[in-house]
Amino acid sequence: MKITRVETHVCNARMRNWIFVKVITDQPGLWGWGEATLEWHTRSVVGAIEDVSQLIVGEDPRRIEHLWQMMNRQHFWHGNNVVRGTAISGIDIALWDILGKIHNVPSHELMGGKVRDFIRLYSHLGGGKMEDFYQTKPDDANRFAELALQSVAEGFSAFKSMAVPVTDTLEGLKPIHYAEACVAAMRDAVGVDVDIMVDCHARPSPRMGMQFAKALEPYGLYFFEEPCWPEHMTDIARIQESVTTPVATGERLTSIHAFRDLLSLRAASVLQPDIVHCGGLTAALKIRAMAEAYGVSIAPHNPQGPVSTAASLEFGFATPNYIICETVHNDVPWREEVVQEGFSINKSNRTVTPSAKPGLGIEINEAIIKKHPFEQELPQRVFYKDGAVGDW
Ligand SMILES: [Mg+2]
Repeated sequence: MKITRVETHVCNARMRNWIFVKVITDQPGLWGWGEATLEWHTRSVVGAIEDVSQLIVGEDPRRIEHLWQMMNRQHFWHGNNVVRGTAISGIDIALWDILGKIHNVPSHELMGGKVRDFIRLYSHLGGGKMEDFYQTKPDDANRFAELALQSVAEGFSAFKSMAVPVTDTLEGLKPIHYAEACVAAMRDAVGVDVDIMVDCHARPSPRMGMQFAKALEPYGLYFFEEPCWPEHMTDIARIQESVTTPVATGERLTSIHAFRDLLSLRAASVLQPDIVHCGGLTAALKIRAMAEAYGVSIAPHNPQGPVSTAASLEFGFATPNYIICETVHNDVPWREEVVQEGFSINKSNRTVTPSAKPGLGIEINEAIIKKHPFEQELPQRVFYKDGAVGDW
């Protein structure tokens, strides 16, 4: 059995172009789907997939670990930058889909088998509608409460918000008070039975991140995400040491070695590998084992397209330390036309039960993809009040 071709299918979904990867074999009708979506880098990833595929065309698709080693270590440069890491991830996910189809079992059975009956989902405020999540003003605590209630009305028992405003490297009390007011309003609205998460989007400096973490500690967040840049790993560790709130991070880490460093610093209580960037399901399995040894939970980063979601869920059904899965459902109205999913969502409590279909259990509709060709992603740029550059 041989891989004969690797194709990319780009589908514009407003904020992102979903990059679907189709790995085709010499067996009639046998192919696998992966995803390699990387906002604002679509052309580079499509090119990187073409480059990386030179290593694996002609190889046996069943030798997933061997192919992962090839893609990571050959061509001199390792797969630890985000463009190549994303390309490798897209191909790797498709290989797990193919292997499941060959053995006629869902991919989670190949990753150790089912360890749980269902997976809890969490939403972004607004359900993935970019304006609600990213552009709700931090001085509008009432709007945060309204959107929180909307998430609960949609059945979610957990949601994530961006209640921490953009701040310069150092600012006074005002942004801290804004964040506190927003989180207090959400907690008042939903009570203690619903889990609230705050994503700092790695905007704050280490000192501002520490101040936000301390101020929000009394509100019992489920987790506090990316309190500062991933390059400041020691500072993230310092923040985690200073508060009882679990710190979550890892969506921008693109090698197993970076996760090793994060864990050895005890910098996070929740790892958020993005299966579309970290090196695919093969890397995610290595990361889960390291996290288990440290007693750390896993909640994958998953704001992209439907293949990423299917892969994140298949991984979750076989991963003991997996706690919850990020999802978006309101990004584009035609999301459900692109994919037929094998798993089922209970919309009354937003839990997912596993798929019995082989591989990732999905069918991708290529005709719908063609209706939404590549478009340049909308820019999301941040400047501080004085015009200096900030982080989005
Ligand atoms: Mg995040």
